[in-house]
Amino acid sequence: MNKVKKVVNFVAAVYREKCPNCGKGHVFEEKTAILNIPKMNDRCSACDYRFEREPGYFIGAMYLGYALSIFQGLITYLLYHFFLPEIAIGWVILLVIVPMLFLVKKNFKWSRILYIHIFPW
Ligand SMILES: [Zn+2]
Repeated sequence: MNKVKKVVNFVAAVYREKCPNCGKGHVFEEKTAILNIPKMNDRCSACDYRFEREPGYFIGAMYLGYALSIFQGLITYLLYHFFLPEIAIGWVILLVIVPMLFLVKKNFKWSRILYIHIFPW
């Protein structure tokens, strides 16, 4: 039961984009324009935890972002495959790519937050 609670807290902290150390401060600036790349805060506003250890620290997060995108695309494809089995493959490809494009910004954030949760100081 305690493990379930830990997993739920972990997923909630990543989803809500909170600090891996205290779970209160925001990892990213809250307001950015829709087409801008999200700007990461240097430190947590609540506990002063430094998010970026060294230059290039988040290169590994790209692999997580890739995995997240593939996973989301696969889930979307499976939903179309089971609920709309007669739809043409061209439409399926388009309908898989469009949601993936909408999730690019979220995946950028979630991959970095996952990375600092997986590899903390
Ligand atoms: Zn914090």
